[in-house]
Amino acid sequence: MKNILNFTLEKLKDDLFATLGEKPYRAKQIFRWIYEKRVYDFDKMSDISLKTRDALKEHYFISLPTIFTKKVAKDGTVKILAEFEDGEKVESVIMRYRYGTAACISSQVGCNMNCAFCASGMLKKRRNLFTSEMVGQVLLLNKILEEENKGDRITHIVVMGTGEPFDNYENVVDFIYIMNEPFGLQIGARHITVSTCGLVPEIIKFSSLNLQVNLAISLHAPNDETRNMLMPINRAYPITALMDAINTYVQKTNRRLTFEYILIKNVNDSLKDAKQLADLLHGLNCYINLIPYNPIIEKPFERSEENSIKEFFEYLNKRHITCTIRKEFGSDIDAACGQLRAKVKE
Ligand code: SAH
Repeated sequence: MKNILNFTLEKLKDDLFATLGEKPYRAKQIFRWIYEKRVYDFDKMSDISLKTRDALKEHYFISLPTIFTKKVAKDGTVKILAEFEDGEKVESVIMRYRYGTAACISSQVGCNMNCAFCASGMLKKRRNLFTSEMVGQVLLLNKILEEENKGDRITHIVVMGTGEPFDNYENVVDFIYIMNEPFGLQIGARHITVSTCGLVPEIIKFSSLNLQVNLAISLHAPNDETRNMLMPINRAYPITALMDAINTYVQKTNRRLTFEYILIKNVNDSLKDAKQLADLLHGLNCYINLIPYNPIIEKPFERSEENSIKEFFEYLNKRHITCTIRKEFGSDIDAACGQLRAKVKE
């Protein structure tokens, strides 16, 4: 038995042909029922013959995760723990912006990257998520939006929840195709962002897909010394290797890149750091998202002082590097990465 939510449209066409001898339009029909009409039951797909529906049911099923916990913050942010068939759980978040409604999706159960400041890495990777489980998170969030207010839906996707998306490369790429599919959720590539801690081979692979999605790189430090301390992945792929891969990406895709930079008190937030950062990124088509660090009880790091954040920001501006300070969501419901799942585990 195969979960239909694992298939891109192209793969479903092939699989339906191989399994049932069905023509390609059948895959489009099924995509429309699931992603446009939100029907997750073959029996309700009324323009498919009874005989074909029975055949489909013999080989395929449609299964969404369930909501294990749900919290709603004062600012409208919704954070859920989605539970899968084997009992594993991940976080997904709905964030409301002026320009739309974004879903923050997890790509793995736990994470192996072990960044020193991050709560997710405290729960070692248990497994990759299937494509269907990433798709399922979005469908579940759409269901919540629909119940709240008919017509509201996810318009933007960020793969920035728990996990390293490029450590689950194939499944994440299929997930992107499904989100982007005109017969599916129709989320524009420019509305999809994938965030990586800097897996160089996958950044290069990703650049040749010719997708117009946004790539965000978690940089967090302007030199190898600090980055080695914060992010062990930097020992495998130091900053020069990372910048090479990024240059390849920018050349191939012509896309502007986003850098995420968390500001941690006395670790990476001095004016000297800002200067190194500006020198490093000088001339690159990019923008920097400055993120005031979200402190986690078990970690020794603190958030930068307001005035250091302001000075850091102003210095980069003066050097003509576009940057923003990230808006915070749902601070009253543990919206900091990994915290909700960690608490439920306790
Ligand atoms: N593994 C991917 C995506 C998941 S993390 C990556 O590294 O990009 C999403 C972002 O949240 C990353 O930039 C990560 O460094 C950041 N992050 C993790 N813990 C944080 C915290 N406590 N406060 C602020 N940002 C955090």
